[in-house]
Amino acid sequence: MKKEEIFDIIKTVKYPGFSRNIVDFGMVKDIEKRADGWSIRLKVISQDEQKLENLRQQVIKAMSEKGESVSQVVIDTASSQQERHQNAGEPKEKNPFDDQKQFEYADNVVAIASGKGGVGKSTIAANLSLALAKQGKTVGLLDLDVYGPSIPTLFGVTHVPQSDDDHTIYPAEKYGIQVLSLGFFIEQDSPVIWRGPLVMKLVTQFLNDVVWKPMDILVIDLPPGTGDVQLSLVQQLKLDGAIIITTPQDLALADVKRSANMFGKVNTPILGIIENMSYFKCPSCGKESYIFGKGGGERESQRLNVPLLGRLPLDESIMMASDTGCPIVESLADSPSAKIFGEIATSLIKSFQTNKDKKQWEP
Ligand code: ADP
Repeated sequence: MKKEEIFDIIKTVKYPGFSRNIVDFGMVKDIEKRADGWSIRLKVISQDEQKLENLRQQVIKAMSEKGESVSQVVIDTASSQQERHQNAGEPKEKNPFDDQKQFEYADNVVAIASGKGGVGKSTIAANLSLALAKQGKTVGLLDLDVYGPSIPTLFGVTHVPQSDDDHTIYPAEKYGIQVLSLGFFIEQDSPVIWRGPLVMKLVTQFLNDVVWKPMDILVIDLPPGTGDVQLSLVQQLKLDGAIIITTPQDLALADVKRSANMFGKVNTPILGIIENMSYFKCPSCGKESYIFGKGGGERESQRLNVPLLGRLPLDESIMMASDTGCPIVESLADSPSAKIFGEIATSLIKSFQTNKDKKQWEP
């Protein structure tokens, strides 16, 4: 058999917990024919022995089912690669910015972050992307919320379009924007603990193998929180700025500071804060009630010295539109909430322009 045919056999092996196969993940590094069978080298980030053994057995099984013998399956893990570098006299510590990658398809890349889950980060990422598109910008939305990718539900899309060569990934397109979500590739019921390490691999692949149409702005929906996964993500991508979403509750506001610190560590400017579920506007009398407290977002933005980009009400129609796969900016474009998203998009475009002008004037 030829090497390409062996690749096709190994393509039947899926990475545990994911619907993608290990070839598409870029984990197969080398295949070599030896006198005593095929030698296969994989490169995997996980160091979970049981998972690695499971992978090894799956490869051997897939090969033997096609009558091919295997001499060895070598699996390089993150730690074995590090050891080799150290033996070769390379420095142990790496500058965290060494790997930071510039996303070449967009003029501006903005991350939407939150200190905790459930504050409306994905809802805002989706609606803000659509609002930017309505103002004539070409937009892409990349959902990296590994713990709960909700962009597929918000947009009513579950997978990327079929590609001719089976290798290239093209984003889905909906309501005039390009959309790509980790949810297209992760199995719903896979254990969350496996997802963290693999997300890095996926992100690298998203940046290398996805063919986007050139765009003005890429909006990234980050996982909530400020743990290792989030930090590695923001270290890996060169971001032009971040927007932090919060609700007015004290607990959520305390997390804003942690988020801001995380972006500080990787020199990413905070473009502003958006306060979600700020108030409830009575549908009959129009009175605004501040059920979660008033002015928290404003105070936090002053303390961090960043703008409060907008305040969104607790609005049933925002939630309902999201649940039906057509966010409010698209489905109820003239509603008061959609208009607020429009105003936030205008401020964001201005802040990109200001940053650009600043860059141009730097000596
Ligand atoms: P996160 O991404 O921060 O976890 P989501 O965007 O998934 O949060 O929102 C959590 C829930 O709150 C969803 O059901 C969403 O529809 C709802 N939601 C978000 N923002 C609002 C709002 N302003 N008014 C009403 N419901 C909202």
